[in-house]
Amino acid sequence: MNLSILQELGIKVTPHALLRDHTTFKLGGACKAMIECQNAQEMTAAIKALRKIHASFLVMGFGSNILASDNGIDKIIVRYTTNTPLIEQKGNRLTVDAATQFDDLARFAINAGLDGMTTFSGIPGTVGGAIAGNAGAYGKQISDSLVSLTLLKPDNTVISVPKSAISFSYRDSDIKHSNDIILNAEFELPSGDTKTMLQKREETIRTREEKHGRWQDSPSAGSFFRNVEPTSKAGPRQSAGWFLDQAGAKDLRVGGAHSYKNHANIITRDDNAKAEDVLALTLQMMAMVEKKFSIKLIREVRLLGEFKNLPVSNPKGYS
Ligand SMILES: Cc1cc2nc3c(=O)[nH]c(=O)nc-3n(C[C@H](O)[C@H](O)[C@H](O)COP(=O)(O)OP(=O)(O)OC[C@H]3O[C@@H](n4cnc5c(N)ncnc54)[C@H](O)[C@@H]3O)c2cc1C
Repeated sequence: MNLSILQELGIKVTPHALLRDHTTFKLGGACKAMIECQNAQEMTAAIKALRKIHASFLVMGFGSNILASDNGIDKIIVRYTTNTPLIEQKGNRLTVDAATQFDDLARFAINAGLDGMTTFSGIPGTVGGAIAGNAGAYGKQISDSLVSLTLLKPDNTVISVPKSAISFSYRDSDIKHSNDIILNAEFELPSGDTKTMLQKREETIRTREEKHGRWQDSPSAGSFFRNVEPTSKAGPRQSAGWFLDQAGAKDLRVGGAHSYKNHANIITRDDNAKAEDVLALTLQMMAMVEKKFSIKLIREVRLLGEFKNLPVSNPKGYS
């Protein structure tokens, strides 16, 4: 497949890039090619060019919610992420390019005297990835302050939709299961005191690093399983980590894959681990929780590519 048209547009193309170099688990084999876009304009041009040549591709943000197969994937991966915050402010409204890092958005909002993003400080990944997975922490999620989205649709139209047009739920959204690509997002945030929010930000990052570790030192994709839905409408969601602890799953190891020392639901790995070890470990963990509590844990992390231990095949690429 000739991808020179993308290079002519100034877009970076790396044939056979390794997914382990582009995910926070730092695992995974080669993709067909990796295309790296850093803003909505590049993303739109790249996707249109790929569709024109009928190329099969998948979109990735920063790769912080993904476990990629050791065998890689025979598809093009379009990586949409930037280290340059692309944010415009009008009063209490922020318009953000989806390639922007979620943590850069949190820092920008705080410095602009806007609240509502502080509790998300330190969550890795892009704003696009966060919206697709409705990322959050401490009972708050990114969709809470969302006003509208600009989407690149499968027919190449670019449309603006209000938040009400999208269904969001705990760590999920319609977008995650569609072929829509988020280009931009608009948020409305309440005013806040920068000094107080900066203090809260530092505390949040400290607590987060203690509980989850830093992916740079202890590779992971954050919580592997979703927390468990409450049994009554009034009840809070119950921590998947608690069920794993109680079932004795925290001490399991498969190959080089195991739980992080301070949190059963953060799966990390030693240097020799394979993605297949991580998946096998988590399947054993699920079985232990199901045996003890008759509860089926649901994976939060997305699998990319084929896994021999996966009970069902993964034709779309993500599951
Ligand atoms: C140490 C650590 C701590 C974490 N803590 C938290 C936490 O507290 N709370 C939490 O919610 N998550 C947490 N996570 C998980 C992860 O950071 C979030 O899920 C993050 O929002 C994923 O963003 P991403 O850009 O990395 O998406 P990716 O992992 O690259 O992609 C995830 C999904 O989003 C889709 N996607 C990405 N960008 C777009 C786009 N522009 N348009 C459409 N679809 C898109 C992809 O196709 C894929 O299906 C943590 C991860 C780590 C490693």
